Amino acid sequence: VTTRECPKEMTHGPCGGVAFDGSCEVGDRSCAFAGGAVVNWSGPAASVAVVDPLRELAARRSLVVADLPVASSRADDVRRAVASLAGRIDAALFGDMGIARVQLPPSYRAALVAAEGVRPWAGVNCRDRNRVALEGELAALADVGAAVHCITGDHTDLGHRPDAKAVFDLDSTELVSLASRAGLFASVAENPVAPPTALRPARLVEKVRAGASACFVNHAGHRDVVQAFVEEARLLGAAGTLFVVCVPVVFSLASLAGIRTFTALALPAALLASIESAADPFVEGVRQALAFAAAVLDVPGVSGVDLSLAPAPGEADRALEAIRTIAKELM
Ligand code: SF4
Repeated sequence: VTTRECPKEMTHGPCGGVAFDGSCEVGDRSCAFAGGAVVNWSGPAASVAVVDPLRELAARRSLVVADLPVASSRADDVRRAVASLAGRIDAALFGDMGIARVQLPPSYRAALVAAEGVRPWAGVNCRDRNRVALEGELAALADVGAAVHCITGDHTDLGHRPDAKAVFDLDSTELVSLASRAGLFASVAENPVAPPTALRPARLVEKVRAGASACFVNHAGHRDVVQAFVEEARLLGAAGTLFVVCVPVVFSLASLAGIRTFTALALPAALLASIESAADPFVEGVRQALAFAAAVLDVPGVSGVDLSLAPAPGEADRALEAIRTIAKELM
């Protein structure tokens, strides 16, 4: 694959945004990695596993992570949201989705989250920063004591900032290597339902060889899909990896529309069938999230769930209420 063929200039593709028909997430071509084999990690091998309280906690009970539902560059909005989750979740995951770009740097947001008593799990993408800037973020995140979620990132053409030049100096596999060598507890994402699905477990194993300690399993729609992915990845070499499975949290029709904007997404059939006709979408969404969480936590090798949601503008408080309601049942 040449850099001209992949708009993200990835070495260790394909990304998780490959559409179900095999086309590139940017939409104007086939994925450059279609039909190819997994690209092996050839950089420095990860040394000893990074010790982290999240790993120790996961040995005792299932982790409950939640997306931070605040797409705001105002620090007070972040503080207020995180304060309402303190003591309710094990970590708050935050990043910069293409559709909800947040301009506060990841390390600053991590410091805000930590100051409110919640463990930050900071998403860092390769779209907005070159390797020098990424190294700076990683150093600051290490100082804050954050975990880091390493992603390549959605292309700028998909989001609200097409005016910004996409960087893609590194990809997620290269970033997780940098992060683990900086001593950070580092995760990656893998999407079991994005083509080529048969290669996704092996692709994760290459990220583990590069330094990933944990994997967020993107929205797969059914616990059996999660189980097949986790089983094969563990067999191939990810036996020591923490698997945190994304659970869709829908609490309104607008939040359903929001989550449907995720690339290469599969949602539970029961969720789609019930939410639109529910008398109270909040109650039904919480019920569906708890049912899906219970199903995936029953899968051998799964260490926890990530309560994943995409609130519409003005829905942050309702989203936080949904997280607290679900987390209370899971903790
Ligand atoms: S789908 Fe992703 S990996 Fe494939 S060509 Fe497009 S940007 Fe590159």
